[in-house]
Amino acid sequence: EPSATVIDGKSVAKKIRDEIRSEISRMKDATGIVPGLAVILVGDRKDSATYVRNKKRACEAVGITSYEVHLPENSTEEEVLNSISGFNDDPSVHGILVQLPLPPHMNEETILNEVSIKKDVDGFHPLNIGRLAMRGREPLFVPCTPKGCIELLHRYGIEIKGKRAVVIGRSNIVGMPAALLLQREDATITIVHSRTKHPEEITSQADIIISAVGQPNMVRGSWIKPGAVIIDVGINPIEDAQSPRGYRLVGDVCYEEACKVASAITPVPGGVGPMTIAMLLSNTLVSAKRAHNFE
Ligand code: NDP
Repeated sequence: EPSATVIDGKSVAKKIRDEIRSEISRMKDATGIVPGLAVILVGDRKDSATYVRNKKRACEAVGITSYEVHLPENSTEEEVLNSISGFNDDPSVHGILVQLPLPPHMNEETILNEVSIKKDVDGFHPLNIGRLAMRGREPLFVPCTPKGCIELLHRYGIEIKGKRAVVIGRSNIVGMPAALLLQREDATITIVHSRTKHPEEITSQADIIISAVGQPNMVRGSWIKPGAVIIDVGINPIEDAQSPRGYRLVGDVCYEEACKVASAITPVPGGVGPMTIAMLLSNTLVSAKRAHNFE
């Protein structure tokens, strides 16, 4: 019988968007300034186009002006760098994000380095990541998906300090920064990745698990300590003849089993996903406030 609290990312994200919308109107009334977010999309990946469209819509809904540059797949690295530097110099733009992945002929590191750290609302600039890793340093921005995970824990009153946390996955955009953030919150962290032997022995010690792998139903009920809190970042399409699209989305965690063991869990969809965009909007607002000394 399921007993876990369902961590409702969809409704938390809506609440955060409402807070952001009213902050933006307060800022606009006081200063006439509206936050701006620039999105650079290179190539024709359908999933990337969908993400960009969703981000633009979310901006409009809270009153952030969005600027989009769509470059063809065969663009040069220099063309991408030029559009980034144009936005770096544009005072109406407070956040710049480059939709990943970039086409294979481009160097992601060179391109992410070009984004002004003051406008790095994705938090992927190496200086921001470096500061996130260092004690006594403050990044200007924290990557949106991991930040959304921590925000969910905070809003549900789940204590992180002193807890054992296991992050499954070590990508630059989710797993690694999630582990750094948990450490900043005084958890003791262990990272599990594709070369980890007997991951279930490690995960079953965790008070908090953040899973960002991309493997449907990998984390079974037996991997989870009774009462643990589960944040499932994975978004995995699996075949489903019942669904009109022929597939549905599931997380990395076997939800039915986990519900019986965990004390709280994020669903997929409706958990971390909506929080990611809410954190992007929040980072953009923070950047605009900072640029104009508005409190
Ligand atoms: P990556 O593919 O970049 O990273 C996956 C990580 O999982 C790697 O570190 C890899 O290890 C590890 N891994 C792979 N297989 C296993 C395994 N069998 N056991 C343990 N670890 C394993 O993915 P992302 O971090 O970009 O994304 C992860 C998931 O999160 C995806 O499903 C993605 O769709 C979703 N996602 C969701 C977002 C949201 O807003 N909710 C945002 C971003 C991503 P190694 O390093 O050894 O290769």
